[in-house]
Amino acid sequence: MSIFKKMEFSEDKTEKKTEGVPEKVRCLIIGSGPAGYTAAIYAARANLSPVLYEGLQPGGQLTTTTEVENYPGYPDGVTGPEMMEDLKKQAARFGTDVRFGMATASDLVSSPFKVTIDDAKVVEADSLIIATGATAKYLGLESEKKYMGSGVSACATCDGFFYKGQDVAVVGGGDTAAEESLYLSGICRKVYLIIRKDHMRASKVMQERVMEKENIEILFEHVTQEIVGEDGVVTGVMLKNGKGEIVRKDISGFFVAIGHQPNSEVFRNYLETDEIGYIKTIPGTPKTNIEGVFACGDVMDPHYRQAVTAAGTGCMAALDAERFLGTRKF
Ligand code: NDP
Repeated sequence: MSIFKKMEFSEDKTEKKTEGVPEKVRCLIIGSGPAGYTAAIYAARANLSPVLYEGLQPGGQLTTTTEVENYPGYPDGVTGPEMMEDLKKQAARFGTDVRFGMATASDLVSSPFKVTIDDAKVVEADSLIIATGATAKYLGLESEKKYMGSGVSACATCDGFFYKGQDVAVVGGGDTAAEESLYLSGICRKVYLIIRKDHMRASKVMQERVMEKENIEILFEHVTQEIVGEDGVVTGVMLKNGKGEIVRKDISGFFVAIGHQPNSEVFRNYLETDEIGYIKTIPGTPKTNIEGVFACGDVMDPHYRQAVTAAGTGCMAALDAERFLGTRKF
């Protein structure tokens, strides 16, 4: 039995200006993070002549981090942008056609699937791999932008190690914030968990784990005012407490964990998603509710969200696309 509900497709009413005759490709990949490029490497080596559109942020979320130390194969670490450049080169080496452009609309009613790029051009694809990732939500403070990559991060697993033995803060009250705090508590001297309400939204079990940790101090009813620093690095955070007082905590790392938004809007008319927007796939596979359409990386993964897991699902998507194309006559 399918895990997917029968979907009624509503017509996409957004105005679409298109130019000329649509281009037809065998394998279209949308997104240029580790999932998209890995899918491209596998698809290109399988002679699927993939076309990959990079999207709004070429290289994906990793281009906003500094050092990546947990991706296997880089014993001395690698910067996020460097790693993405390497992946891009590797995809191009086998013949992937890497292009600038962003998917702005789609029609997935039947194969060939139609994807509109930059509101202008339609590409028709026999198989489609969606690797559009997720975007971390930020508080929207100027100081947050200023110290991004030099004290402010949205990924404890990626950047926590740089704060070994130091004091840090995590903002957010959900499962992600709880998980990030627990992870950091094993590395850092002290973790302040900043929660705007008088309670946490995280699951009971995660709350209990956080409360049990001696080096996590939960600051309920605290709202971040500004992140402060000296010589370009973070030294503290200013918070407003429930009494309206401004308090300062000395920290060297500030982790934002207030949720992610999967970049699935363009496909949501056709693909089944969870309530947040993560594309649902058949467990253990990148297969969506539409045969021939695959999703990989953070756009379908609310749990692991690592470069290496994204790359793994990208590989799976390309292998499944190849099998799908092999069973059809186009
Ligand atoms: P959630 O949306 O669950 O939680 C976001 C948290 O951030 C809330 O506490 C929210 O506060 C807070 N927040 C939002 N905006 C702001 C802001 N501007 N300032 C301060 N705080 C803010 O996101 P998560 O990423 O934590 O979780 C997403 C989903 O993934 C959930 O379903 C979760 O259960 C799941 N998940 C599961 C895990 C697991 O099972 N191990 C691990 C991680 C995630 P408020 O409560 O006041 O709205």
